[in-house]
Amino acid sequence: DWANVPAAPLDPILGMSQRFQADTDPRKVNVSIGAYRTDEGKPLVLNCVKKAEKIILDNTTLNKEYLPQRGDVTYAALCQKMLFGEDSQLLKDGLVATAQTLSGTGALRLGAEFVKRYAPGTAVYISSPTWGTHNSIMDQAGVPYKPYQYWDKENRNLNLAGMLDDLKAAPDGSIIMLHAAAHNPTGVDPTKDQWDQIMEVCKAKGHVCWFDSAYQGFATGCLEKDAYALRKFAENGLPLFVSQSFAKNFGLYGERVGTFSLTCGSSDTVKSVMSQMDIIIRNLYSNPPKHGANIVKTVLSDPELYQEWRDELLAMSVRIQDMRKVLFDELIRLETPGSWKHVTDQIGMFSFTGLTPEQSKAMVEKHHIYMLGNGRVSMAGVTSGNVKYIAAAIDDVVRN
Ligand code: PMP
Repeated sequence: DWANVPAAPLDPILGMSQRFQADTDPRKVNVSIGAYRTDEGKPLVLNCVKKAEKIILDNTTLNKEYLPQRGDVTYAALCQKMLFGEDSQLLKDGLVATAQTLSGTGALRLGAEFVKRYAPGTAVYISSPTWGTHNSIMDQAGVPYKPYQYWDKENRNLNLAGMLDDLKAAPDGSIIMLHAAAHNPTGVDPTKDQWDQIMEVCKAKGHVCWFDSAYQGFATGCLEKDAYALRKFAENGLPLFVSQSFAKNFGLYGERVGTFSLTCGSSDTVKSVMSQMDIIIRNLYSNPPKHGANIVKTVLSDPELYQEWRDELLAMSVRIQDMRKVLFDELIRLETPGSWKHVTDQIGMFSFTGLTPEQSKAMVEKHHIYMLGNGRVSMAGVTSGNVKYIAAAIDDVVRN
């Protein structure tokens, strides 16, 4: 009767949203999940997405046939350009293997399956802290994983020396998971000079760098800037994996649109790798869904829609930056003990507030502000309407 199945704990991120839903307090705020909200606190469907959906529906050749296991190849080629750049030599030489995936999580899982088969025993090194699912995906896929130092808690900044030490100490040819832009949860990315140092170590060690790109365009509002490290590493010939998500930058969360790519030594190898990806995908979920990829394909291949998307992406990132400023100003006005400069210094969707697990718990239990136990607040859920309440709650938990 399955009485042997123990109840699992709630997911640390998705579980918070479940608790939020169940809360009846009118003051409640959900800043746990990384999902963009308008200043009215509503989910946003981008205009470019609505227009693309109309074009798709009006297309008389539209059908609901299966895609191949690897997905839509035109979509994949457009995604490659977005990641590696129009002028990428790797793309000109046809050295990147790319499969359409079930958003970023599906890309990570597909990559993990690939590692398990073709680099068995190789450990994936993951930043500490990270988006928790990085670790659990490797765990569930049976891929060994280890942490590398990333966060300097004291200075609320990158611990570059610790990171480089750990990358040097890892066996040659390890796999290093890097957040392409807008590190989750810390909001602290390496500077260009620091990326160069990381690259030199990875190159000398023959490491494979796995860029997890879930926020391209969200860190700075600019797609090119947010692809800086990935493109630099690619130009310098480092072997790469890339997992890509369109959840945040296209607002296509539930449509599950992404890609997984890896760079290969020859175009023949790309063919073999893709043929193996087809087999892995066939036995996981057969083939990916069409609608979301169709939206992205339509927008990326239409100059006007593409520009509209870029403008909307910029507007989302600017609203988040504005909220950082307002939250910061409010904490200063309240003279909340501690330094809060990191609130405006950090980039991307999240603020790693520095609140302790106890303080974070009090935010939830006393103030109905649903955030993560590690102090992470999604700035995308902060609005003109709730920012003062959030600041007052932070002030209260810090003082008490
Ligand atoms: N990687 C990171 C670092 C993320 O923050 C996220 C989203 N929270 C993802 C991958 C993937 O999310 P999704 O599967 O929704 O694309």
